[in-house]
Amino acid sequence: MSTRTLQVQSPPMTGGDVEGWERDLNAQLGDWSIDYRLTEDGRYTVEDRAMTASVLYGLGIAVDELTGGVAPELRTKVRNKRLSAEERARYDERSDWRARLRARLEAADDPAVHRLVSRVLSDDWGYHPGVHDGIDLICPLDALLHAPVRSRVIDVRAAGWWGLGAQPSPGHPVSEGDGIIQLEALVTVGPIREGFHLGFGHAEHARVEVGQTVDAGEILGRAGFANASHVHFMVNRGEVGTRGVGTLDPREIVDFCAERG
Ligand SMILES: [Zn+2]
Repeated sequence: MSTRTLQVQSPPMTGGDVEGWERDLNAQLGDWSIDYRLTEDGRYTVEDRAMTASVLYGLGIAVDELTGGVAPELRTKVRNKRLSAEERARYDERSDWRARLRARLEAADDPAVHRLVSRVLSDDWGYHPGVHDGIDLICPLDALLHAPVRSRVIDVRAAGWWGLGAQPSPGHPVSEGDGIIQLEALVTVGPIREGFHLGFGHAEHARVEVGQTVDAGEILGRAGFANASHVHFMVNRGEVGTRGVGTLDPREIVDFCAERG
């Protein structure tokens, strides 16, 4: 192992030891389930130093150990997770801080994501191909519906999801309330792919029009009532036009939006 202490210099320090440290920092981010990586280019830059400080703090290591640079002993300690009892206690105290670090780093890259419905009480039953083509998000009466990501509005019908000549959607009889709002995603983020159609069945009181672009979080309308106050959220790749049918299991998207938005 290199005996150099890594410091920000001009021109920057370069070499395999720097690249090794960048890998160690990235491994630590991975251990914390943070979906962000420092560029492993073997150049010790200001960004490397900032990430070093974040990772040390997140581990519970006193940042004054960083004064003067990243000594080889410090790198070994981080790599082998040889933390003192005091550092372990601080590590436990800093779990909220690590959650905020995660939010900060992941927000830097990703397009905005918003929850689908202002408040979901349960998401009963789930997706069952041929039987129920979406997930029912059970919510308070008149809950607000939000665009999960930047999208184009491709379909708004106050009635007609099943009523006006449309096929009944699997899992729901034609007699129930049948407004619908459908979006086409304009970005790829998490499990949502650009071009996916995201449909809200039982959507009422639409506030958007076909052709309009909406940003994540923009209000689309309100949940309607069909047996219970809920929306039927469905996803397809765009292969069924605007018929309003789910051909993909929306579970991952529902959870992703709930966690991120
Ligand atoms: Zn449903």
